[in-house]
Amino acid sequence: MPELPEVETVCRDLAAEKLTATIEKATVKWPNILHNISPDKFKKQIKETKFLEIKRRGKYIHIVLDNQMHLFIHLRMTGRVAINLDHSKPNKHEHVVLYFNDGRSLRYHDTRKFGKWSLTKNPEEVIGHLGVEPLEKEFTLTVLKDLLLNSSRQIKPFLLDQTKIAGIGNIYADESLFFAGIHPESITAKIPEDNIKRLHQGIKKVLRQGLKNMGTTLGSSETNFYSVAKRKGRNKEKLLVFRRETQNCFNCETIIKKLVVAQRGTHICENCQTLFS
Ligand SMILES: [Zn+2]
Repeated sequence: MPELPEVETVCRDLAAEKLTATIEKATVKWPNILHNISPDKFKKQIKETKFLEIKRRGKYIHIVLDNQMHLFIHLRMTGRVAINLDHSKPNKHEHVVLYFNDGRSLRYHDTRKFGKWSLTKNPEEVIGHLGVEPLEKEFTLTVLKDLLLNSSRQIKPFLLDQTKIAGIGNIYADESLFFAGIHPESITAKIPEDNIKRLHQGIKKVLRQGLKNMGTTLGSSETNFYSVAKRKGRNKEKLLVFRRETQNCFNCETIIKKLVVAQRGTHICENCQTLFS
């Protein structure tokens, strides 16, 4: 599932396309992709608009339109965006298409169809619930400490909770916890100060590294992460624990294990990561 580095990569790639033309038409083949709006209303409201700005909040692509509406795209499991240089008919996995009057089209491709598009006047409806952005200045050590001390959950589901910290998913949660030497089943309020410091550094470090490598593409099938122009991310080879079960830890050579924590496959080195409970 695309996380902060992958979604930010898509936003930057989309912005680089300089989509300044007017949308002359939209098609919606799979209405369930639309979150808070009917296909007819969506097509009507997006027609004759232009993109003013493309940004990211959490795992959402946020496109500001010139009619005071906001378009949000959440890629969920297998969503991806492509820009075609023509107005050809959508293929079977292209569920929403925006046709621009410069001859190009934006294609939303999603094999598993879990992605969501929202169109609204009020951005808070879609992103109002999100927590702190981990790569912004507002994400200080004090903020993280307060969040952890006010919770008594396991740290892994805490990191995945978008209302606390926005943008972290399974890959970067496992990598951050390995960096910080924290077992994913540790109770948030029991984590010592020193490990909280390392977690704060670790979250920023693994997300920045993911972003620098333009995201993590784990395999080569259609369901993996691809940015615009179907470009793969290069971050997979930088991962220290995620999907490395049965291989040796780079620190201590212990075999990396896979556990299930809060219903999510979780990768750890039992020697390097301490359980605080
Ligand atoms: Zn280790």
